[in-house]
Amino acid sequence: MVKAVYCVRSTNGVGRCVAGVRRGRVQACVLRCLLAWFVGCTALAVPAEAQKFRELTGRHLKLVTDLAENPDVDVLPAVFDQAVPLWRAYFGVDEHALADWQVSGCLMGDGRLFGEAGLVPPDLPPFLNGYARADRLWVFNQPSDYYRRHLLLHEGVHAFMLAYWHGYGPPWFAEGMAELLATHSWEDGKLALPVFPTAREPFAGWGRIKLVRDDLTSPDCPTFETLLVQPAGDFLQNRAYGWAWAACAFLDGHPRWQQPFREMAKHVRLRRFNQRLQAAVGEAWPELVDEFSVFAWELEYGHDLERWAIVFAPGEALPEGGRSVRVRADRSWQSSGIRLQAGETYRLKATGRYQVVGGPPAWHAEANGVSIRYYRGRPLGMLLAAVRFDAERPSDTQGPARHAGFLSPSAVGLETTLTPNQTGTLYLKVNDSPAELRDNQGALEVQIERVLAEHEAQRRQ
Ligand SMILES: [Zn+2]
Repeated sequence: MVKAVYCVRSTNGVGRCVAGVRRGRVQACVLRCLLAWFVGCTALAVPAEAQKFRELTGRHLKLVTDLAENPDVDVLPAVFDQAVPLWRAYFGVDEHALADWQVSGCLMGDGRLFGEAGLVPPDLPPFLNGYARADRLWVFNQPSDYYRRHLLLHEGVHAFMLAYWHGYGPPWFAEGMAELLATHSWEDGKLALPVFPTAREPFAGWGRIKLVRDDLTSPDCPTFETLLVQPAGDFLQNRAYGWAWAACAFLDGHPRWQQPFREMAKHVRLRRFNQRLQAAVGEAWPELVDEFSVFAWELEYGHDLERWAIVFAPGEALPEGGRSVRVRADRSWQSSGIRLQAGETYRLKATGRYQVVGGPPAWHAEANGVSIRYYRGRPLGMLLAAVRFDAERPSDTQGPARHAGFLSPSAVGLETTLTPNQTGTLYLKVNDSPAELRDNQGALEVQIERVLAEHEAQRRQ
């Protein structure tokens, strides 16, 4: 149902601020720095015929907008109505829960009009693109249809969580869940969520993967542990949304962390939320922390978390005479089960042939990879090695130093020698995109031997 509820004077203004919601210096600075597709409040110009507010009403959303009639705008209450049962299903909530729940929303082309009409409370704090409070939400219009829906759903998740769970949890979880459960596909009038974007184009304006990638080399690149304590104020910048999405998408899509993560929504009102998550993960916590940093580093559209998940296992000393290990082509980092000693030299020799592209025609490779296609600067299918430092005392290998080997792996190819500078477990994988592991098949064998130092070799002769 569409009906006009207010008439307002014509304006040529573009909604940079909402009346009574002056944007602070921090946000102004952010806005200047953002790419155009992020500048939510540089709304589409309001067409002359859209001089009235319109009310678009669905079962769960009553949306007031100053935007002109447009199928992609007018469908929003129907989109929202499809989202509610999907959110219920995600949270494992009774299908009749919140049956009569309805949110009042404002989709604002020109924020000033909404302020002047009293549709924006004067005490609303500054916000970047959208804001939710109890069962009300406000969203600035966006240039892309995808991102307009996304923002509306994002604020809807906040409202849903508040209505059902009576809380949001810490900022990383509140915003990460809103991002996770707003990232959607909309095809032929059917909504699906959460989805992990497989390409940039259908998600115009979203850009979360780019935000993470752009941050990877910055000195204050987050770790999982710094994200946990991120203050709410950080969410006046878009980079925080990128990382919050990445954290929740990682945990939610990961075969090992999904179950403890999905339990967390019910704890959003409790103090020590982060400690509860850590307790649920238990002794594997350092692996989760490391793995998230590697995930962020290797993040791709269509990232196949099922296959990509690192197979952690602490290594044991290499037996005399060495050992042969098997490396699957359709997985990412896999523990060799061998612990390498700092300062010792090891020889790695690989044999075997495996599929790296499904085809037709299928492509096969040996450990040197195929020279006609590269991924991240190295031949597709090339055998790579990394050492994860796992000293006896956890304090010896804190955070980034512990997983640094994964971020700059060594090329092994058919044969190489490695001399680690710290003791740790050897991990191996073939070089391929985390989005393209599905069509890989087969495995290779890697023989690992210690190279005797000259004096040792002489003594044994
Ligand atoms: Zn939010």
